[in-house]
Amino acid sequence: MTRTRYARFPDQANRAHPQAVALTPTAVSERRSIFEPRLASLTQIGENRLAARTHHGTVSMNLHEYQAKAIFARMGVPIPSGSVAHSPDEAVAIAQKLGGALWVVKAQIHAGGRGKAGGVKLCRSPAEVRAAALALIGTRLRTHQSGPDGLPVSAVLVEGGSAIAREFYLSLLVDRSRECLSFIASPDGGVEIETVAEEHPDRIVTVPLPSAASGVPGYVVRILAGRLGLPRDLFPSFEKLLAGLQESLLTTDASLIEINPLIMTESGTLIALDAKVTLDDNALFRHPDLAALDDPSQRNPAEEEAERAGLNYVALDGDIACMVNGAGLAMATMDLIQLKGGQPANFLDVGGDATAGRVTQAFHLFRSNPKVRAIFVNIFGGIVRCDLIAEGLITAMREAAPKVPVIVRLEGTRAEEGRHLLSQSGLPIEAIAGLAEAAERAVQAAGGAA
Ligand code: ADP
Ligand code: MG
Repeated sequence: MTRTRYARFPDQANRAHPQAVALTPTAVSERRSIFEPRLASLTQIGENRLAARTHHGTVSMNLHEYQAKAIFARMGVPIPSGSVAHSPDEAVAIAQKLGGALWVVKAQIHAGGRGKAGGVKLCRSPAEVRAAALALIGTRLRTHQSGPDGLPVSAVLVEGGSAIAREFYLSLLVDRSRECLSFIASPDGGVEIETVAEEHPDRIVTVPLPSAASGVPGYVVRILAGRLGLPRDLFPSFEKLLAGLQESLLTTDASLIEINPLIMTESGTLIALDAKVTLDDNALFRHPDLAALDDPSQRNPAEEEAERAGLNYVALDGDIACMVNGAGLAMATMDLIQLKGGQPANFLDVGGDATAGRVTQAFHLFRSNPKVRAIFVNIFGGIVRCDLIAEGLITAMREAAPKVPVIVRLEGTRAEEGRHLLSQSGLPIEAIAGLAEAAERAVQAAGGAA
């Protein structure tokens, strides 16, 4: 049985047991593919970037760069000397203590792309350090990863400037598709790894670790160092750095550790110039010290409010607010809206037992988003009864009184009764039976394409 599965889905065997590769009949082709860039790992980096919230609430917690670097320092991963500052005075004091003639002042936000957005400032005097800190602290920084409103900067990291000879990309993550830890590396550091993946996929290497517990085997070190083109004399310090990364990931229960760029300095040493650590929320109870590093200011306020109300909500850029029961149906609803030419304003799964209270909370959330031009309620009554949902909707609408058209599609158990209640309520609700028709109407109501 197992053999048949492996023969028919060789990839599966490979994923479950990276070490078993040499034992399977398709060993040669798998040996080639196992080190090739895989979309799955990169997708996971992407997922982590999206501040990773799923239908079961927050699944990850990001750390600030300075916090991530403190972990690196403890694990023997080399970082630039520096310290965090909350005021320009503090920034200058740190620069003076560091000494030297070149400093970097870096905005601390939970998003990358700060360099391009003006959030990383190279300074050649303490006066410039002061000016950089003054320009960053207390503002919002918008990068291509921060979302349209940007993120608040309440602190900067002041570091000694490094003389960069080469920039690499290096990360270690929980590779769910292969069910192991994998290193991802590229000699093209300092740029978005997604861009490298798109334009030069051959310049990224993914190396799965055979076992999480056994340290970093020599062949992994050699493959990674080889692909990065590191000089031989750096292999021992690179090996230590990889071990430190693995240690950092394991001891913190992180799901992703990313160094972009890892640099080779002009004097020939390796330094993690940037640091990103994403922790797995499910393990935070084991790390009260790490949980204390949480910075709620870096999260979307509507998402925070939704979390408190027990709603699974992700803010998006569109103008059609969606309220759906079940994560799968919510995804399908968003797809359908886009297919009809509209843009969803959010992902929202009110859960299988959508109570009137939660429905009302959802309507309050929609009201607080000025972009919303239509509300689309799509409920499939399986375990829940549509008439009860309709009652909840009516209560919610009386209380939250949305000012935009509300289109409701109720289907399933007692749907007829539900629709009847809605039509009798005297509230401006358009009840539409068909899913496609309802989505089309919602797009139209929002002034979109349909
Ligand atoms: P982000 O990924 O958010 O843009 P980084 O930490 O990667 O921020 O910094 C962006 C760029 O700024 C780096 O690629 C590097 O060229 C430069 N930089 C960052 N820190 C330093 C430093 N300590 N010394 C010299 N250059 C730096
Ligand atoms: Mg970076």
